[in-house]
Amino acid sequence: MASFDVIIIGSGAAGVGAALGIEDRSVLMLDCGFEGDPSAIIPNQSRVEALRDPDQDLFPLLIGDKFEGAALIGGRSTMSPKLKSPRMRFITKDWETLSPVDATGFDTQMSFSLGGLANAWGAGVYRFSDKELQGFPITSADLTPFYNRLTKEIGISGSTGDDLTPFFGETADLQPPLKLNRGPARIYESYQRNRPHFHQRGFRLGRSRVAVLTERFGDREAYNYKNLEFFTPNDSSIYSPAITVRKLIKSNRITYCGGFLAERYVDRPAGVMVSARNLRTGLVEQFHAKRLIIAAGCLNTAKLVLASAEAGEVSLPLLDNLISYVPLINPSLVGLPSEQRCFGMVQLNLIYTGAKAAETIQGSLYDLSGPLRSDFLFDFPLSFKGSLLVSKLVTPAMCLIQFFYPDDPVPGNSVSLNASGKLKINYAGRNLGSIEREAISAFRRIGWFGLPQLCKYPRAGNSYHYAGCLPMRREPGPFETAPNGQLSGSPHTYVVDSAVFARLPSKNLTFTSMANAMRVAAGVAASLA
Ligand SMILES: Cc1cc2nc3c(=O)[nH]c(=O)nc-3n(C[C@H](O)[C@H](O)[C@H](O)COP(=O)(O)OP(=O)(O)OC[C@H]3O[C@@H](n4cnc5c(N)ncnc54)[C@H](O)[C@@H]3O)c2cc1C
Repeated sequence: MASFDVIIIGSGAAGVGAALGIEDRSVLMLDCGFEGDPSAIIPNQSRVEALRDPDQDLFPLLIGDKFEGAALIGGRSTMSPKLKSPRMRFITKDWETLSPVDATGFDTQMSFSLGGLANAWGAGVYRFSDKELQGFPITSADLTPFYNRLTKEIGISGSTGDDLTPFFGETADLQPPLKLNRGPARIYESYQRNRPHFHQRGFRLGRSRVAVLTERFGDREAYNYKNLEFFTPNDSSIYSPAITVRKLIKSNRITYCGGFLAERYVDRPAGVMVSARNLRTGLVEQFHAKRLIIAAGCLNTAKLVLASAEAGEVSLPLLDNLISYVPLINPSLVGLPSEQRCFGMVQLNLIYTGAKAAETIQGSLYDLSGPLRSDFLFDFPLSFKGSLLVSKLVTPAMCLIQFFYPDDPVPGNSVSLNASGKLKINYAGRNLGSIEREAISAFRRIGWFGLPQLCKYPRAGNSYHYAGCLPMRREPGPFETAPNGQLSGSPHTYVVDSAVFARLPSKNLTFTSMANAMRVAAGVAASLA
């Protein structure tokens, strides 16, 4: 049996952050590693151009022969529109069999793919401030060098001077922001003219920070506004951890071993032994290393730790950013044709700081050009025919705010392992609505209208920001981690994904998870010297 200096379990954002933190050591990345269909044909045109071209058939890309792309019609699924289309299905493939969950109050999706959930992410990348790291035993100064290195590694675009710059921090090495789509551009222009009004209501708007290229970056091209990101994960202008995994394999910095489901590990004085099921043969194989870094995504990391400790009775805390959706419409844009070239993901961010929230709340603003119209056809309070007609006319005139709510550990919001090895998840939701009403009222001034009754409050889990099961503490107890990532009682085992977050601020978490993974892994590498 080959032995390595370090085994990293998982190839998602956290696993990649860890791999980037280790140099000149033998590293095995152990992963289930499902991959997409490399033969997928991607049109040269944008989505709208291809749809209007009689020689193009977008059915396989948008809908698929199993009608995967129609999965949201009629509210049958809570899946994100970004995960459902045929070419994106590999991202969540087989998760319910590989890691079944018994959940109450929580909608779960997991990824066993090479690159993990970030194959479908919105690529919003944000640095946590000291305020947002309150409750963590580390500060922003501990993460800054790693945020900086990651910025140079993955390529990030954004503004270097707008109302959100103080909130988003360091601007070095940013590429210029993306071009805004029509609706969000209108909003942003109106916001500039009405800043005092918005500020008085507690809102500030600015350009998003996204790991999407607006200029060439090494061998990766700038984004081309084809608006296919809901349908294909292959656009290298949008960063995905899979890009780094492939680069690290090519440069021999890691040995990648896909097709293995880690089931348990044993931390011994001589190092760590991982038992993993070969998904092709069904046999369990063993892998040895001096150090183990677990980056299997918060829920699977928790499962692996509980299973390895045979901790049937233990309940771990669970955090998630609850979300809300606030639809807004501008009547002056009703009936306009869809834009030929645009970007389907986040356009602007907004933050709310005011009396209606104990801490800053961050939101993302989108137009509806990304998903298929059929994804929200039944959200219009009309007949089927009426919805079809109205969605065609009204969709180009709509924008959507998505608010993310912070989370703290609460007794009862928990993860445990039942006797049959299934993850049991419990999460009690909270009542939201006041910030949404405030936003509707603020946007009315600039000609964008909404109704509180049309806001949506999905169940927990729908942000995909799972966190907090093995929190980082200065003096960790059982099932907690030290500031250096070490799992309490397991001298050679480190946890690097969002399982270690002591709490969740409102900001999207993945960039911080990557930076922290890199920080922990650099310490692990140093401990091997
Ligand atoms: C639609 C969508 C939009 C999002 N947008 C954003 C955004 O804009 N900004 C943001 O910050 N976050 C966003 N997120 C969340 C973000 O994608 C996740 O936080 C991030 O991908 C988590 O990375 P991870 O490495 O911790 O885990 P995962 O991505 O879940 O990766 C887990 C990895 O571990 C492997 N694995 C799991 N269990 C095992 C096992 N037992 N054995 C072997 N391998 C295993 C899997 O194969 C996979 O490679 C979004 C998510 C979705 C779905």
